[in-house]
Amino acid sequence: MPETSKNPEKLIIIGSGPAGLTAAVYAARANLNPLLFEGFQDGGIPGGQLMITGTVENFPGFPDGISGPELMQNMRAQAEKLGTRMIMEDVARVGLSSRPFAVVSSGEEPYAASALIIATGATANRLPLDSEKRLWGRGVSACAVCDGALPVFRGNPLAVIGGGDTAVEEAVHLTQFASKVYLIHRRGELRASKIMRERASSHPKIEILWNKAVDEFIGDARLSGLKLRDTATGAASELAVAGAFEAIGHRPNTGFLQGQIEVDSQGYIVTKPDSSGTSVNGVFAAGDVQDPRYRQAVTAAASGCKAALSVEKWLHDIC
Ligand SMILES: Cc1cc2nc3c(=O)[nH]c(=O)nc-3n(C[C@H](O)[C@H](O)[C@H](O)COP(=O)(O)OP(=O)(O)OC[C@H]3O[C@@H](n4cnc5c(N)ncnc54)[C@H](O)[C@@H]3O)c2cc1C
Repeated sequence: MPETSKNPEKLIIIGSGPAGLTAAVYAARANLNPLLFEGFQDGGIPGGQLMITGTVENFPGFPDGISGPELMQNMRAQAEKLGTRMIMEDVARVGLSSRPFAVVSSGEEPYAASALIIATGATANRLPLDSEKRLWGRGVSACAVCDGALPVFRGNPLAVIGGGDTAVEEAVHLTQFASKVYLIHRRGELRASKIMRERASSHPKIEILWNKAVDEFIGDARLSGLKLRDTATGAASELAVAGAFEAIGHRPNTGFLQGQIEVDSQGYIVTKPDSSGTSVNGVFAAGDVQDPRYRQAVTAAASGCKAALSVEKWLHDIC
């Protein structure tokens, strides 16, 4: 077990996305004097996934939208102003077998806390192509629910890459805006559940392109198409699209927990029904790291609020 520091904190929050910073706002206002690890590189950058996003149009309170980085800077400023102390480092490992819990930073500094909120988010898997990186945010995205309604995509042909339930959900979502949606899957059968497979194959605006892999994202200033390869025959083809949405899975950022908390088959932290509590008493989880379903800024923020309120009550009850 990692060595602990001598003066335990009441609460350490791990992660500075919407979940972690909202938890910090609530915890600071409840006089829990939270210490927050912002992260650095292990599971994304400080501020989380919205730092790599353009305009956020669906976070309440911003009728004209707000840029992802600006929204996160505002949340950080609010948490800091209310008294949250921040450390811009990753947590390398934790020791959860006894309280106070041990937390060791990537700089090998030991800390300890009576309660923890884990808000380390999830990382969207992305295709390892140079052209993908170049056109990221310029027609290439990993979140159709977030970006699909942007004016640049409306009335245009779009593509979703993937074959699971999320890919089908994203394709169906995009049919509201797109002239047509191509669902590009590298195999001859979708991994999605039966009902989702039927939804995709019966939708008049969705065309499934079987056995196709994306070899290149085409475009200069913005995405204009995809170079595809038939995985069965090797034949190359091109597809004109104004947007491409990768739906090839997410990796919850839980490696530093080293198996000390119950996770589901995909690695998401399991929280108790109607609660932020995890399998370890005193450790709470919030945001995308425990939510394979909604994965939105506003749901992450809401669960950060719930986790902080749960910690406040839990600390009160054990004292
Ligand atoms: C391209 C894109 C566009 C999106 N657009 C929208 C949108 O328009 N609207 C919307 O509602 N949602 C959008 N989302 C989804 C939204 O960003 C997420 O649902 C939300 O950010 C989740 O918040 P979170 O706090 O749970 O985690 P994250 O935002 O993922 O933050 C996780 C935090 O944990 C930190 N961290 C990770 N590991 C460690 C560690 N070991 N130690 C310390 N810190 C660590 C990271 O540095 C980061 O600060 C988008 C997502 C993507 C990828």
